[in-house]
Amino acid sequence: MCSPIITETETKSVITKSNLPVCDYSVNPYTGCTHACKYCYASFMKRFTGHTEPWGTFLDVKHWDPIKNPQKYNGKELFIGSVTDPYNPQEKTFERTKALLTELKGSGAKLSIATKSDLILRDLDLIKSFPDARVSWSINTLDENFKNDMDKGVSIERRLAAMEIFHNAGIRTTCFISPIFPEITDVKAIINTAKDKCNLVWLENLNLRGDYKNVILEYITEKYPHLTPLYDEIYKKGNQCYWQRLDGELCEFTKSLELDYVINDDTMSRPFDAPPVVVNYFYHEQIKKSARKD
Ligand code: SF4
Repeated sequence: MCSPIITETETKSVITKSNLPVCDYSVNPYTGCTHACKYCYASFMKRFTGHTEPWGTFLDVKHWDPIKNPQKYNGKELFIGSVTDPYNPQEKTFERTKALLTELKGSGAKLSIATKSDLILRDLDLIKSFPDARVSWSINTLDENFKNDMDKGVSIERRLAAMEIFHNAGIRTTCFISPIFPEITDVKAIINTAKDKCNLVWLENLNLRGDYKNVILEYITEKYPHLTPLYDEIYKKGNQCYWQRLDGELCEFTKSLELDYVINDDTMSRPFDAPPVVVNYFYHEQIKKSARKD
């Protein structure tokens, strides 16, 4: 396996005002991501960075000017890791995410961190010092072979172990079941495994667009040929029946576990020790489209 191309870069600011509905600011201490997920939605970033290398093979390590007046982020939602993984393996060396957290410590910012790593355990105490911090781990399979086919993050077992440690430490955790691969991702089994370690389960279906659509469809044809007709139906003909059926099944399943199953939820207003809420995010593409029309 080739080593990624690492470049250290200077930037004025690492915190960007965000249009995402889930946060006020997005923060990405790196450009690129060496977890190299085959389905990475963030690979569009290549267009804006001048990189021509394949996604996952390069990483720009950002060095920014000192954050002036961190208190201005008091009470604001900062999403760390919208287009990179802030705990990619190189963070162990460069510690840019740790530097960011250290600069923001005491500011009162509300952090939301997304990762596929357990390197974040290193910063547990730092993260715990922020009010209402939340950490999410992407887990879209319990099958380590499929995981290895899809990404270079740490094993699912390690992600679940890290989630449990954060949860036991009183930090809100999310099991982000994303992207759900039709007939491959066993959503119910993941919910059963994670439900005692998290405050929120977030479900997002696989969307295929851009460069990676063909990569995924070719992978399915090669490794799961019996699923090719289903994937063609969903991703070439736009048939939504699979998601509607899964939605119905999950509604029944979560009811049997006495978990709330909702489209949108403010989990922060729920007690920490309440059972996790399962949030269905299947239809966000349609929601985004109608929002654009509006
Ligand atoms: S961890 Fe996230 S940002 Fe990194 S390659 Fe995977 S999906 Fe993309």
